[in-house]
Amino acid sequence: MAMYVYKDEARTEKLLAKNAQKADKNTRFYCPNSNCNAYMYICNVDGISMAYFRARRSYGHIDGCIHSSSNGFNPNNYQEDMFQFENALSKLMNPSKSQIKKETPGENGTGESESKPLHTIRQIYSMCKSYDCTDDYNGKEIGQMLIDDRSIYMYPKGVFGWRIIEGKIKKPLFYDNDKREITLVAPIKNVKYECVLNFDDDALFKDVRNNIYANRNKVIVIASQWSSSGIYNVFCAPIKSKKQVAILNTEVG
Ligand SMILES: [Zn+2]
Repeated sequence: MAMYVYKDEARTEKLLAKNAQKADKNTRFYCPNSNCNAYMYICNVDGISMAYFRARRSYGHIDGCIHSSSNGFNPNNYQEDMFQFENALSKLMNPSKSQIKKETPGENGTGESESKPLHTIRQIYSMCKSYDCTDDYNGKEIGQMLIDDRSIYMYPKGVFGWRIIEGKIKKPLFYDNDKREITLVAPIKNVKYECVLNFDDDALFKDVRNNIYANRNKVIVIASQWSSSGIYNVFCAPIKSKKQVAILNTEVG
């Protein structure tokens, strides 16, 4: 699913779901992923729930496309007006912080009455990828939440504050066992910054390091609060929980 598509195969002209018209109903659009040839169509353009784009089953997404329905974000499953980005990210770092977990048994069909705000890193990341980077979600611009190849032009001076980054490992060596650091570079195609992950907890460091090593050609997504390392174009952030890290099933290519 996607909250925007392109009208043309060369991906020059965008169409946001919120601007789609009934007349667009039977028009084939192009997946935002330029490597993916899925046939995208608008859904719910005249419904009560929010419109979004979905691929036709017989012309689906390539493996690992972020817009396939298994990865994808459906705006009708989450309460947008309850979503607070910084609050959500700080909870990923402090999962025990008076988080009262009510087990909601059985997800019902529409999920409308049971819907919650986005809260896992994968949910928030999928939402950000679904929208155009200059669009917004609950009033916050997508590019101010996720740093990727689309939004990097918004960061000429570096990575500061609460952000999700989409990166890959630094080569040839991405970790330092003595300092308990893991170094990524971001964004993936037009690498601009080094992102150093700092760990206090040795077991957590080893766990994340080994997991990344086993998936060293994959896209890595990190949620944290970033600050300057003191070195030009190098930024650092604390990792206190596995919930801040997501390794995608997508090769960096
Ligand atoms: Zn696709």
